[in-house]
Amino acid sequence: ERYRHIEIQNILKHVVALTKSQAILHNVHIKTKFHSDPLFVLCDENKLKQVFINFIKNAIEAMENEGTITLTIDQHDDYFVVVNIQDQGPGIPKEILDKIGKPFFTTKENGTGLGVMVSFEIVKHHNGAISIDSNSTGTTISIQLPMTKSCE
Ligand code: ADP
Ligand code: MG
Repeated sequence: ERYRHIEIQNILKHVVALTKSQAILHNVHIKTKFHSDPLFVLCDENKLKQVFINFIKNAIEAMENEGTITLTIDQHDDYFVVVNIQDQGPGIPKEILDKIGKPFFTTKENGTGLGVMVSFEIVKHHNGAISIDSNSTGTTISIQLPMTKSCE
């Protein structure tokens, strides 16, 4: 059993450190707004890191050359942790929104179209959910995960 109770803030801090150099290369600033209380999730932390890295990379790629990614961690009721990844890219056209997450669907010349699919699967295995809110001023990916107590 690789699932452990981990503080979600620590997972995101590591992910920011891992993606920082790619962000800097694209003139992208990563801003964080984390809930001040430690919030715990029962998770395979490496898998969750993969999810957040996938979405941050997509956010960087969407903005091409400058902008801000805002990462927020909030609590929803007493039961869920919500991680938002918000970019200032061009948004996702309505007609392709349904296709995102299908295996190998990509609009990029060098894309694989696997990142979102893998992320959906990992979050599903954690009994969580992902929603996408997108318009012409940017995209927000919301990842909801069941919250646990650290000592459960
Ligand atoms: P890839 O990044 O290899 O194309 P993904 O599964 O990560 O594969 O993403 C699939 C597609 O979803 C992308 O090609 C892009 O069209 C769209 N997409 C994902 N995230 C964003 C985003 N933040 N802004 C705009 N489009 C996005
Ligand atoms: Mg991707």
